[in-house]
Amino acid sequence: MDNDNYDVVIIGAGISGLLAALALSKEGKSVLILEKDDAVGGVCRSYEVDGYRIDTGPHAITRLENGPFKELMDRYFDVVPQFVPFGKYYVRIGDEVKPFPWNINAWLKFDLIPKTDRLLLMKSAFNTLYLLNKGKNLSNITLQELISENISDTTTRFLDWICYFLVGNSIENTAISRFIDNKTNKGNSIRYIGKIYDLFVTEGGKDQGYPKGGLQSLINSILVSFTNNVDIKTGEEVVKIQCRAGVEKVITGENTYNCSNVIYSGFASDLPKLIDNLPEDYVHNLNQIKKVNSLTIWLGLNKNIFKKNGSQMWIDSDPYAWMVPVSNYDPAMAPNGNHLVGFAFILPDEYDILKMRKKALAAIIRIQPDIEKHIEMIHYQDLIPEKASWGVNSGFGDVQTPIKNLYCVGTDTEKRSAGVSRAAYSVLRCLEIMESDGNRSEFEKKTG
Ligand SMILES: Cc1cc2nc3c(=O)[nH]c(=O)nc-3n(C[C@H](O)[C@H](O)[C@H](O)COP(=O)(O)OP(=O)(O)OC[C@H]3O[C@@H](n4cnc5c(N)ncnc54)[C@H](O)[C@@H]3O)c2cc1C
Repeated sequence: MDNDNYDVVIIGAGISGLLAALALSKEGKSVLILEKDDAVGGVCRSYEVDGYRIDTGPHAITRLENGPFKELMDRYFDVVPQFVPFGKYYVRIGDEVKPFPWNINAWLKFDLIPKTDRLLLMKSAFNTLYLLNKGKNLSNITLQELISENISDTTTRFLDWICYFLVGNSIENTAISRFIDNKTNKGNSIRYIGKIYDLFVTEGGKDQGYPKGGLQSLINSILVSFTNNVDIKTGEEVVKIQCRAGVEKVITGENTYNCSNVIYSGFASDLPKLIDNLPEDYVHNLNQIKKVNSLTIWLGLNKNIFKKNGSQMWIDSDPYAWMVPVSNYDPAMAPNGNHLVGFAFILPDEYDILKMRKKALAAIIRIQPDIEKHIEMIHYQDLIPEKASWGVNSGFGDVQTPIKNLYCVGTDTEKRSAGVSRAAYSVLRCLEIMESDGNRSEFEKKTG
């Protein structure tokens, strides 16, 4: 059956699809959102398990003072979620737990790793700034190549942890540009000096928060802000995007929708299945994209084991773990005074999920043995936090596509930042490109 014309069809109701829909609906566009799952929110939502409110993975929402998500909330949200400060990031090595060293001063005092390593890494950091100032392309130099071969295993694991959780790749595959490109520009005309300034004063993590009520409160704030020109259809998977001079129709198992613009927020690497005759080099790049795989273990506990309001980076854990005591931020996430803690693990490219679950649970118990007798609920999630890792030899999608009036949003289309902030950057870029293509309304040009 052929359906009414929509100005924009949005494929996928994760946070990037929903944010794009909100922005365009506020500009008066008629928008249809098609989501293959029965729920909206993608990997940014919450649901109930045994009286616990479980998020799709532990989350810190970043850059809340002046980042891209804040920009979209300010511009388009009628109701803004409430955020609880995320607190410190603690590093746990052996039995010691210390705050993450965000600047050189803290770094020099960070005695969880050997002093010689700290000095060598400082030297490497300054070398990087020197290379940057010389105009060297840092996207082909890996962190492994930059650092000295003589650093200890502990320090290598510490850096490897950071690479896995920031980029989804090991230290051998992470380009050093990842640690430079997305920093805020302080307006210093000499880049080199600006970066040194960053190294000395960065405090990190201060503008991060946990949304009260869980991730679902982000999604609910978007849904209640929609105007009445948005239709959402769940349980409807898009199987084809029909294009001639530009996009024409979006086809699902049940329906065909005519539209002037399409915003696609699924995996960019799936586009060749949805669209016939895409250019070869475009398809080749999409085929090189590597997803980031993750496992989360949620534990419901009858005792508060982690009392500090802050998360912990477990460097000794195998696989590496990030522990987030969610009910410390919002006690309503657990029932009857119980506690909810999430452990996120980044998984290798190839894995047996049942073995990984067993191994990861054993790692938690090895590092925190007293936890075992307090466990009342265990819930596992296998999810993809970033649709593309940022590795030296990996492909990466783009908001712009070779097809007229087809745009992509999501974490495989934009390299700045990570997670929800990255998704929000992709939406802002999509709006910019649509505007330069003449696909946004006069209203936004005047006010936006
Ligand atoms: C364990 C874990 C921890 C995380 N931690 C953080 C964190 O601390 N901070 C942070 O900012 N972010 C974090 N994230 C990442 C963040 O949740 C995601 O980056 C973000 O939610 C991605 O949103 P998206 O809309 O781009 O993609 P998705 O949420 O994947 O949405 C895509 C949607 O498109 C739908 N879809 C795909 N193909 C089709 C089709 N053909 N037809 C119809 N529908 C389709 C999918 O079903 C899905 O709902 C984490 C994620 C995980 C899993």
